[in-house]
Amino acid sequence: MKFILDRMLGRLTRWMRLLGYDILYIKKQDDDDRTFLALAEKEGGILISRDKILINKAIKGGLRAYLVGSSDIIGQLREMKKEFDIRLEPEMDRCCLCNSMIRKILPDEMAIVRRTDYVYPSRLNSTTDFWLCENCQQVYWQGKHWENIKEMAEKVIMSYK
Ligand SMILES: [Zn+2]
Repeated sequence: MKFILDRMLGRLTRWMRLLGYDILYIKKQDDDDRTFLALAEKEGGILISRDKILINKAIKGGLRAYLVGSSDIIGQLREMKKEFDIRLEPEMDRCCLCNSMIRKILPDEMAIVRRTDYVYPSRLNSTTDFWLCENCQQVYWQGKHWENIKEMAEKVIMSYK
């Protein structure tokens, strides 16, 4: 399942990618309705926006589209769960910055991790599993951020029950 999100949904974009979903995020420069709709048609994803006019245009044009009502992230994820039955389990398989697939860093490639300025030596000593986005070179691991993701997913599930 592929989704196309508009620039008002930057936070939802990152979250959906952390959940493993393929998200095309439309940045400001492409953010006029015609460009947006043309992209949605070309890419063949489901268009997600908080802009009612845009969603109506999309549906009129025969595209799959969904109007998000909530302004907060938990409400938005809950809507995505309800509408598209997304899984609320974080996955280490997609870069939340650029949408590319990430891969595990092999033991003999740890130089990649060491050359970043955000993985501290203490982290290097306490963590063995790292992932790399080959597209934007971002390095990932299951640290505090990972716990936050799981907590958030649980909150969404709880609010849904
Ligand atoms: Zn990336």
